[in-house]
Amino acid sequence: MNIKYKVVFTVTFLLISFSIGSSILNYMKALEETQTQLKERSLPLSIDNIYTEVQKNLIEPTLVSSMMANDTFLKDWLLLEETDVDKITKYLETIKNKYNMFTTFLVSEKTGNYYTYTGLLEKIEKENSNNSWYYKFKAIQEPYEINLDFNKFMGDSLIMFVNYKIFDEKYHYLGATGIGIKISYINDMLKHFRVKYKFKVYFVDKNGNVVLSENNNTLKSLNDIEGLKAYKDDILVENSNVIEYMEKNRHYVLNTKYIKELNLHLIVEAKVENFTAEVEKTFYLNLIISLGVTSLIIFIILVTIKEYNRKLERLAAFDSLTKLPNRRNFNQYFEKALRLFARDNTPRSVVFFDIDNFKLINDNYGHLVGDRVLKRIATILNMQIRSSDMVSRWGGEEFLVLLNDSQLEDSVEIAQKIRISFENDIELNDLIKGGVTASFGVTTFKEGDTIEKIVARADKALYEAKRSGKNIVIQG
Ligand code: GH3
Ligand code: MG
Ligand code: MG
Repeated sequence: MNIKYKVVFTVTFLLISFSIGSSILNYMKALEETQTQLKERSLPLSIDNIYTEVQKNLIEPTLVSSMMANDTFLKDWLLLEETDVDKITKYLETIKNKYNMFTTFLVSEKTGNYYTYTGLLEKIEKENSNNSWYYKFKAIQEPYEINLDFNKFMGDSLIMFVNYKIFDEKYHYLGATGIGIKISYINDMLKHFRVKYKFKVYFVDKNGNVVLSENNNTLKSLNDIEGLKAYKDDILVENSNVIEYMEKNRHYVLNTKYIKELNLHLIVEAKVENFTAEVEKTFYLNLIISLGVTSLIIFIILVTIKEYNRKLERLAAFDSLTKLPNRRNFNQYFEKALRLFARDNTPRSVVFFDIDNFKLINDNYGHLVGDRVLKRIATILNMQIRSSDMVSRWGGEEFLVLLNDSQLEDSVEIAQKIRISFENDIELNDLIKGGVTASFGVTTFKEGDTIEKIVARADKALYEAKRSGKNIVIQG
């Protein structure tokens, strides 16, 4: 491989390696940052927001329930044998409407009557599974609980109940009261987190069953996620955790938090690729841009090298003053002409001329004027010859012309024309007093000729011309 292409190849290789390398490095860094951001900031922040939101929505219902459980009217009514059902119905209805609850209720321990704001609903029985909540609640230590329940009387929608125990002055258990609210706000909140932050939020109970999630969520239990099964024990604890898992070749990160008030575990989950898609896009964009810039640089280098080479070639082949082909360049052309001549025998001739008394011109007018004379000679020459002919600056003030398809006689004529055009040129006459002349030697190609032989013959004829008084054409 050419040395310059070796250099270009190496530079290309280095630049491409560098751009790919730095793009990959940037990508890895951005990827890591995105994941850290997700794990350490976005997810925990969302967990806290949701927790705050849930708490905020729990306070009012809890306060209302507590107020009901401590209401003397309610206690007295229970103690006075539950006579006037209308009275308690009105009471429950007023509270329901005042605090905009979904339902209000009262269960009497003594009679087992279950009242709501619409009146007596049913008698609760141990055997009825719908009533099991009451017996469970009665058995716990705490004075109240928050219970999530599907209530068949309420359109099978998820209701959050706040149950409060009622005691009399002597701390005898009288029953339970409280409120129920439809927790559609949770659905709105979960939807908000999915749409705005691309997070999936759901709540699971202590067995890992999904209790609360967005309406459209089909997940029933943590056990349904193959990749998450193993981490179940890390989720169903009171501490918050960050868990990463793979499911169907997708990378997930989730944060957990135990919500004591609901006895549920809150899970906020993110599909990592949703967050790294942008990073990936940036990576490809970076890569394309840097490869584009690299290609541009390589292109510029190649064009520069090519241009530089052309300049070098021109410098090597042409005379810088007259812009005529130099002797080296001319020799190549000369050789080709000789080879062709050997094949086709078409007449070819050479005109060799030397400016007369050029030293004097230099001496009298200076080198700069001498140079202008040489340039003018070249211009006239180019005008006088045919495009099939070839002119060269052979040396200082010597020029050689190769005339293709030209007999000796015709060539002598052409030489004469050139000689006269020098002699009569207005510009040369303006430059040099008395004008500029040249002496010419003309010869034609002969069988078995070499460049040396032809030039020697032309040179000899030129010498003759000089000896004969200059400014004439001699054939040799
Ligand atoms: P003759 O008529 O016998 O050819 O005499 P001459 O003075 O022309 O011949 P000579 O060979 O003694 O001088 C040629 C001069 O041409 C000498 C040299 O300094 C000058 N010369 C050669 N190349 C250049 C050039 O590029 N520019 C200028 N100004 N002078 C040049
Ligand atoms: Mg000379
Ligand atoms: Mg001369």
